[in-house]
Order: sequence, then structure tokens, then C-alpha cells
Amino acid sequence: MIRPQQITVLGATGSVGLSTLDVIARHPELYQVFALTGFSRLKELLALCVLHSPRFAVVPQQELARNLQDALAAAGLDTRVLVGESGLCEVAAHPQVDTVLAAIVGAAGLRPTLAAVEAGKKVLLANKEALVMSGALFMQAVHRSGAVLLPIDSEHNAIFQCLPADYSKGLGTVGVRRILLTASGGPFRETPLADLMSVSPEQACAHPNWSMGRKISVDSASMMNKGLELIEACWLFDARPNQVEVVIHPQSVIHSMVDYVDGSVLAQLGNPDMRTPIAHALAWPRRIDSGVAPLDLFRIARLDFQAPDEHRFPCLRLARQAAEAGNSAPALLNAANEVAVAAFLDRRIRYPEIASIIDEVLNLEPVIAVEELDAVFEIDLKARTLAEHWLSRSGR
Ligand code: NAD
Ligand code: MG
Repeated sequence: MIRPQQITVLGATGSVGLSTLDVIARHPELYQVFALTGFSRLKELLALCVLHSPRFAVVPQQELARNLQDALAAAGLDTRVLVGESGLCEVAAHPQVDTVLAAIVGAAGLRPTLAAVEAGKKVLLANKEALVMSGALFMQAVHRSGAVLLPIDSEHNAIFQCLPADYSKGLGTVGVRRILLTASGGPFRETPLADLMSVSPEQACAHPNWSMGRKISVDSASMMNKGLELIEACWLFDARPNQVEVVIHPQSVIHSMVDYVDGSVLAQLGNPDMRTPIAHALAWPRRIDSGVAPLDLFRIARLDFQAPDEHRFPCLRLARQAAEAGNSAPALLNAANEVAVAAFLDRRIRYPEIASIIDEVLNLEPVIAVEELDAVFEIDLKARTLAEHWLSRSGR
């Protein structure tokens, strides 16, 4: 009999976390939940613990841990509750864990995701910000520990599926001309530019095709998400920024493509549902049922493509600039974006000011080499301080 894989889900209460638990619950003979972590929706975390009986749960504070521990005991569960970043790192690196789903949003996911990588786990990466911030260090840790890093960001999962197994020999060596990274264009693809000054967080979060957390929804509206994904693709597939072309494809049916020197273009298609890339990465190199409905091509009928307009999407231009500058630039970009998006969601700034804040931070802070993790956090803090300074100077 095969022993079920032990899975830690970092960010279990989020959109990707819940999709992961949905897939896991379809295959109890293959997967068992080892640990679940949550940050704010702790009632939901309790309900997930009742459903999946994990060995550990992790919450941000001691008092929340006591409350959850009591509630778990009342429900007859012996799940142990751990606290804070050290708790997250413990369940990510625990010797009994096989696979870690990295689905915390933003920079907060970096240390726990790296803990899983350093412990040589199979790491399913949704938390693209972690890789964007620490790219070279992150990939060095993967190679050093022998961790198996599999992308579940739908585009990167698609690219992974379209590449040959030996792509790590180099994209040129395996005949790849370029990667075509598809983007839906988000809710503001056709909004008159003059109206962007007055769009609300609700409008930005109303993505036409995907249902996601609020931060990534705003990133999708601004196309910063595609910018972060461009940087993510460069690290995952050892590509140069100019080997990755962004293609707007409003139907979100093609999740990305690989263009080969012989003129072949391979694409991965599917309904826009994260359970497909999650199931693919969980079972890789096998295939399992994800619960996603089969693609109905007759209903879709057509697939459209257009080039992105960097005037409409300045965040995409800023991200490409950071990708090309390398070193500390992507960490600056990411941190400035996190502050700006939070301010937009709090209605402290207008939507176009997200790009203004990031632009200023990238202009003010010189790009430096990054040789250790502490330096990444220093750069992150500098960018956050500069972005906060923009906000206070503008009276927000
Ligand atoms: P979400 O906001 O729905 O969930 C985020 C999760 O992280 C929650 O469980 C939350 O409790 C936890 N969290 C938030 N702040 C934390 C902190 N400071 N410390 C510890 N935990 C914290 O976000 P999501 O949409 O599920 O996205 C998660 C990650 O996956 C992001 O990096 C996003 O870019 C990436 N991603 C998401 C999708 C998607 O379809 N939602 C697709 C591709 C990639
Ligand atoms: Mg994506």
C-alpha cells in the first residue's frame, strides 16, 4: 500500500489554499493534510481543521493560538497549534512533511517557503512574491537542497507542461525561442484611461475570469501580476526578460505557451480554475482528477490575442524594468507594490497612484547586489519606508 503524502498548506484559508484542500479531499488515499496555517479568518481555519484533522495548525499570535487550541479540543481534535513565523517555518520543514503548498500572499511567505526549500521538500509555489524578492538566493537554495520546485501559478504551470523534461539544460539548448506569457488584461482592459482615476477597489477586484484574493486581484487589474510573473518565469525557467513576451488573451483559456525554433508553438489550455495546476503539481508526473469541468471549446468558440499597452499598464513596464535591472530591483518593486496595493484597498490612494508610488521607489533607491537573505529584508524595508513616505507626503 502507498503511504499518503503528508502535505502542509501555508495560507490554507486563502483562495489557493482552499482550492488545494478541495483537490486533496478528492484523493484521501494519496494525500493527507499535515498542517494548515491561517492569518485572519480563524473561524474558517477551525472549520478546515475539523474537516482535515491536521497534526498542526499555525496562527499569528499567542492569544489566537490559545483560543483555537481550546476550540479544537472541544471538537475532539488533538491538532497542536503553533504561533507566528517560527511556527510556519516549523511546519514547512518538519521531517514528516513531503509536500508544502506555498500559498501565503506577499513577502510574509518568504521565510516559510524558503524553510520548505532548504529542507528539500517538494514545494508547490503559488507565493510568487517570495521568488520575485529573493530570486537568485531562492534558486540557489533549491539547487543546494535538492528540493523539487513546481509552479502552480497557472501560467508557469502551463509553461512547465509545454517544456521538455530536460529544459534545465537551457532554453536555447532545447530549442525554445521564447515563452509567451498570457494575461487576461483584467477588468480595466478597455476602461477609458480618463476613468481609471475613479475606479474603486471593488471594481479592481472583480476579475472577469478568475476568483482570487484581493491583493492578486488588484495586481491583475494593474498587470503588476504579469510583471511579477515575468520575473517569476525568468527564475523558474532560467530565461532572460527579453525571452518572455506578454500576450493579452481575454478568455483566459490558454494559460501560456512555448514558442520553439522550428515554428511550433505549444500551449496548455483549460478552464480558468486553479485546481488544474494544483492537481497537476500535486500528482506530477502522474495525472489525477481535479474536479474541474472539461473544456467546452464550442462554447468558448474563439480565442483572442492582443499586445499589452504599457501606457495603460505602467506597472508592467516598471516590472520589466526591474527584471532587466535584476539584483535588488525586483525586491524594491515587490515591496513598493505591496504598500501601494494595500493603500489602494484602504481607499487612501487612487488606482493610477499605485504605479506612481512604485516608480518613485525604483527611482530613489539605487539597485545593489543581494548576497544574503538579511539584505533582501533590508531592501524590502527600505522600499516600504519610501512608499510610506510618498503616502504621508501626499497626506494619505
Ligand atoms: P488570499 O488573500 O486569498 O490568501 C492568502 C493566504 O495567506 C491566507 O490564508 C492568509 O491567511 C495568509 N496570510 C496573509 N497574510 C499573512 C501573513 N502576514 N502571515 C501569514 N499568513 C498570511 O490570496 P490567494 O489569492 O490565495 O493568493 C496566495 C498566493 O498565491 C499569492 O502569492 C498569489 O499571488 C498567488 N496566486 C494566487 C492565485 C489565485 O488564483 N488566487 C493564482 C496564482 C498565484
Ligand atoms: Mg498567474
